[in-house]
Amino acid sequence: MAQIKKAAKYVYYFGGGKADGNESMKNLLGGKGANLAEMAGHPKLRLPVPPGFTLTTEVCTYYYNNKKKYPAVLDAQLKKALAAVEKEMGKKFGDVNNPLLVSVRSGARKSMPGMMETVLDIGLNEKTIEGVINQSGDARFAYDAYRRLIMMYADVVMEKAGGIEPKGGKGIRKVLDEKLEKIKHKKGYKFDTDLTINELKALVKDFKATVLKVLGKPFPDDPYEQLWGSIGAVFSSWMGKRACEYRRIEKIPDEWGTAVNVQAMVFGNMGDSSATGVAFTRNPGNGENKFYGEYLVNAQGEDVVAGIRTPAPVNEYSKNDQSRHLPTLEFIMPVAYKQLFDIQRRLEKHYKDMQDIEFTIEKGTLFMLQCRIGKRNGVAAVKMASDMYNEKLIDAKTAIKRVAPNQLVELLLPMLDPKEQAATKAIAKGLPAGPGGAKGRVVFTSNDAVEWAAKGEKVILVREETSPEDVDGMHKSQAILTTKGGMTSHAALVARGWGKCCIVGCADIEIHIETKSFKANDGTFIKEGDWLSLDGTKGLVYLGSMGLVDIDLDKNLAYKNLMKLVNKTRTLKVRTNAETPEDAAHAMKFGAEGIGLFRTEHMFYGEGSEQPLFLLRKMIMSKTEPERRKALNDLFVFVKKDIKDTMEVMKGYPVTIRLLDPPLHEFVPHDVSKLQELSKELGISLSMLRRRVLALHENNPMLGHRGVRLGVSYPEITEMQVRAIFEATAEILKSGKKAFPEIMVPVTCIENELIHQKIIVDRVYKEVCDSKKMKKIPYLYGTMIEIPRAAIKADKMAEIADFFSFGTNDLTQMSFGFSRDDVGGFLPKYMDLKVLPDDPFQTIDQDGVGELVKLGTDRGRKTKPNLKVGICGEHGGDAESVKFFHRVGMNYVSCSPFRVPIALLAAAHAAIESGKGK
Ligand code: ADP
Ligand code: MG
Ligand code: MG
Repeated sequence: MAQIKKAAKYVYYFGGGKADGNESMKNLLGGKGANLAEMAGHPKLRLPVPPGFTLTTEVCTYYYNNKKKYPAVLDAQLKKALAAVEKEMGKKFGDVNNPLLVSVRSGARKSMPGMMETVLDIGLNEKTIEGVINQSGDARFAYDAYRRLIMMYADVVMEKAGGIEPKGGKGIRKVLDEKLEKIKHKKGYKFDTDLTINELKALVKDFKATVLKVLGKPFPDDPYEQLWGSIGAVFSSWMGKRACEYRRIEKIPDEWGTAVNVQAMVFGNMGDSSATGVAFTRNPGNGENKFYGEYLVNAQGEDVVAGIRTPAPVNEYSKNDQSRHLPTLEFIMPVAYKQLFDIQRRLEKHYKDMQDIEFTIEKGTLFMLQCRIGKRNGVAAVKMASDMYNEKLIDAKTAIKRVAPNQLVELLLPMLDPKEQAATKAIAKGLPAGPGGAKGRVVFTSNDAVEWAAKGEKVILVREETSPEDVDGMHKSQAILTTKGGMTSHAALVARGWGKCCIVGCADIEIHIETKSFKANDGTFIKEGDWLSLDGTKGLVYLGSMGLVDIDLDKNLAYKNLMKLVNKTRTLKVRTNAETPEDAAHAMKFGAEGIGLFRTEHMFYGEGSEQPLFLLRKMIMSKTEPERRKALNDLFVFVKKDIKDTMEVMKGYPVTIRLLDPPLHEFVPHDVSKLQELSKELGISLSMLRRRVLALHENNPMLGHRGVRLGVSYPEITEMQVRAIFEATAEILKSGKKAFPEIMVPVTCIENELIHQKIIVDRVYKEVCDSKKMKKIPYLYGTMIEIPRAAIKADKMAEIADFFSFGTNDLTQMSFGFSRDDVGGFLPKYMDLKVLPDDPFQTIDQDGVGELVKLGTDRGRKTKPNLKVGICGEHGGDAESVKFFHRVGMNYVSCSPFRVPIALLAAAHAAIESGKGK
């Protein structure tokens, strides 16, 4: 018997206390659709959600796989669902007497703020408007809705989705908006809501004529054409330039597709007993467990977010400097507020996470239009995770997973130097949308931000408000400053998602885009390229470039609470790369459990390096061994002190000291006075010295005379360093303190190199033990694994080495054959074209380089089962890489002090993900 294949279900209904879908179906229904279904249909919720239905993401994929055609069954399924909505609402779509109006809303799996477009009030035309007027008894409202529909539809469907490039860059929305502004200006109106019925009527007429003139097509009056046009626009906007850009930054695959939601309209613009708003179940700016939100009376949809009027606070807690004088929702609509408050509590309990909600009040009746997991900055994420764990809303693992490792960056985020800040008067104040301090040079367009940043400039993007077109420029800026918009505006949402310093609604400044400048209320005039400093935590704007300082983590109890859970959970240890007592102490405070990389050459760079560098140069330029030994003897004092100081700070935690690594010519002076000084010291002529310098030149220094090769050529260099290490250790131990050095030989490729160096180590060890009268000095002898051959022959290397530390920077360089110093020439193109998914120097290439790491670890441990294995290099502080190293079975990762908390958290995530969490 032939099986009848059931047609796929492309349309999911929700409303009236039931729903076809639920929250777990995000992949199919998108985030918005799944949550609407959950709110409407879950027996524990059954919230007042206007009825509607969702076209699944499968329709989107079908659409793109089939030359932009819909599945044949879609039309019938849509009609059926629409009929159910009509029944629930007691209205009919397109009906002249009793018309149903709907919205068409996009909704991808992951929220993409503002990327996809929504069209409201669909179904209005010259005929149905009469029905709306009769029903509502409010012609002003009906025409207000109509002009909104025309504007949105012309912009989203006809222009953007129609692929029409606006003339002179001025889109239809702007053209129409200017007409509205012109009337307001002429009549001296402050708000949209001041327009009279007749003015709105005339405006609608003008809008329609303008749409025809500018876009060459009339605004469609057929409700079904409006509906399908809007649905098509949502699907096509998925492949729009801006959406693709956002997905690239957020690493969202193109294949996911978006869903489309069609939903009965409810109206927040039906007069003074109506309103619309956005709220969070906890404060997304600092994480406090307080209901927080904004609303506008007599408004619709995006009005709150768009910054048309200053949104009012829902309650006392939500007041800010801009909104302090406005009445709260709690005050003007106490019943609806109470209902909203209860619902948001229930929602948070249900989802066990902070919810970002949209609501509309139509003539006193509350409707829920959206809920989703709310974006939050790092500070708030930590606070909420810690609080919710304390409140027993979530368990430890969930709390840990709630904070993305990179979000911690914000807690470690620099602030403006408090002293400088106290001494400086702010030129303007806005809303603190993204915390931390930032400084940069002012630019006024997203394109400029991108261009300046590409030239290495730090910039601050200053705009009236931002839109999805600005996403790239916002990403490249140090901070964002807008003059309009509230805490839920586009700029605020996007910046919060990225943890970027951001100030919005800064009405104290006025931008003159024509001259690329702005003027602050206090008279300060600022033009493109001028320096600004922002305090995103307080919302303050300062002229000039201020210093930035680090935050005191010790005072952050939520952070400490969370890190306690993290440390109980993770198994991977975290060390730091540090060469100074200050860095080491810093890292210890962050929770480092040792130093994974102490670069001896560090002492020859920067502050205080004059003398040791001179001695090193003398050593390098020496011709004979005795000459060299003499210079080394002088140098020894500095090396020993350097090592000793840092090792003392580490209080017995292991300190991996790498023997001299860089090619010697790196230290050779270039300017004449330095050369003269050196020749004098060495007692040779300048030209002779020049000849020696020339002899050190290498064509390919990265692959040249460096690392262990130096130690083999000049054993006395190794000897000096090893002696310094052992003597420093012996002296610390003798003073009753702890120390544990690990001697690490760099750039090895064959075990014979390790054997060669070990003979020196053993001899010096005995000598120091004797001279210090010690039976033994604890230490380990090991090597970096950074040449592919060393990884492959790890079994052999492990015969001599007690530990491996994978030097993944060089290992990546040599595995790919990409020069670390020259990748800038081609890597950006590789990333753009997706030839490479990620920069392998930032995130470990798990398939290739990672395979070498894994193989090296396994082979090494075959020889020596308790071989200690770690990694040092940039990857040690990259969350994804840390997780990989956990899976490989490493003992520790090592990263820069500042990345230690990130690595700790990533290690806990890795433990939980692999089911091995303690
Ligand atoms: P976004 O994804 O950009 O938030 P939404 O689909 O949520 O877009 O819609 C934009 C605005 O329109 C929101 O404020 C939303 O609450 C409002 N809105 C959407 N559908 C309706 C509706 N059926 N009735 C009233 N307001 C709606
Ligand atoms: Mg929304
Ligand atoms: Mg190296």
